[in-house]
Amino acid sequence: MKARKTSKDAAEAIIRKLNGAGFEVLLAGGCVRDLLLGLQPKDYDIATNATPQQVCVLYPRAQVVGAHFGVVIVREFGHFVEVATFRTEGVYTDGRHPDSVEFATAEEDAMRRDFTINGMFFDVLKNCVIDHVGGQEDLRGRIIQAIGHPERRFDEDHLRMLRAVRFAARLGFEIEQETFEAIYNRADKIRRVSAERIREELEKILTDRNRADGFDMLRSTGLLPHLWQQSQWSTELAEKSKRALAALPEKAGFSLAFATMLYHLAAKSAHGACRHLTCSNKVRTEVQWLINSLGALTGDGVKTLADLKLLMAGPCFEDLCSLLRASLIAENQPLEQYERLCHDSAAIAPDDVAPTPLINGDDLIRMNVEQGPVFKRVLDEVYYRQLNLELTNREDALAWAGRLAEASSP
Ligand code: ATP
Ligand code: MG
Repeated sequence: MKARKTSKDAAEAIIRKLNGAGFEVLLAGGCVRDLLLGLQPKDYDIATNATPQQVCVLYPRAQVVGAHFGVVIVREFGHFVEVATFRTEGVYTDGRHPDSVEFATAEEDAMRRDFTINGMFFDVLKNCVIDHVGGQEDLRGRIIQAIGHPERRFDEDHLRMLRAVRFAARLGFEIEQETFEAIYNRADKIRRVSAERIREELEKILTDRNRADGFDMLRSTGLLPHLWQQSQWSTELAEKSKRALAALPEKAGFSLAFATMLYHLAAKSAHGACRHLTCSNKVRTEVQWLINSLGALTGDGVKTLADLKLLMAGPCFEDLCSLLRASLIAENQPLEQYERLCHDSAAIAPDDVAPTPLINGDDLIRMNVEQGPVFKRVLDEVYYRQLNLELTNREDALAWAGRLAEASSP
């Protein structure tokens, strides 16, 4: 059986074809950094002196995503590879997009990139690194350093400040001093970046295994209080968040990690943060549920078997267990409560978590219970007792509902 072609094979095939047509073609950016670090690149980006039109002559079905930016997506062996024409970028009047781009040389293309470790090329055919920006030295020194003048580079695109934190945390690198100071001195400008772009970076920082370091750098760079409105942090709260984030399982997803960062806030404030950052409905619901349920667990909201089953039937119970553990560690509390929760929940068979209700609304209608608050209360209470194993058959449930409806009617 032939091995499936990888995205690296795809990039190499494209490089050979463009090179065969006489163009200069190099691997560029993040994949070169990752290859040199011995890490698996997420994707392989290609940079070339061929214009988008020239790439399209060789790949007529390529998708031109921004002729203006010189980026074409080529499909090869089922993989999508980004092929970008070497370019310089004009002024950024809005702090987000260059006003214009111009096709340029490889060296000029390196200079428009954000950090030295992200500014290298790799010539696959000659098997050598092309480094116009001192990226190899900074990789060896484990340093995140802006290419060119740090202040100017962060003023061009404020998001680069968050990117610096992300790469430093993920790779375990230091942010070089001038680069760090440039961020520190204009951290509030991150407010001008769209909420979507901030959220995407924050998500990458918090879903990485080094999330606690990432959080710490958000704080030390001064970016943290500007990530959303009312992002207010005392030293004590920030320390708690950091300890809690450090206690999460490596693979924690965004909802769990964000809820952990905010665990000591009221659910309302956490909801506000999600809203400002335009998180998806799923993330909003999960974060709010996690924080509310943590409150119930650590308060005295979970006393019975039914309380536990209702939590287990929630959107992400396993994450709730991780959040409880992380918060106990952050608060220097013993883990007994977490261990009990694991133990008690493991003892409940999956089918018993959310069984079909013994009675439903139709039964109440047949019993002439009027639609309204009493109706819902009766159904909820009967189900609660069913979960608590106090009502175990339909007959008892109907009798109990009848008595409760009568006692509750005005
Ligand atoms: P990852 O592995 O997380 O994808 P990456 O380095 O590939 O990291 P991307 O956001 O995919 O990061 O960008 C690819 C490359 O494009 C970067 O390595 C960098 O050279 C350049 N780049 C991306 N965003 C910017 C930016 N905002 N300013 C300057 N250069 C950028
Ligand atoms: Mg990338």
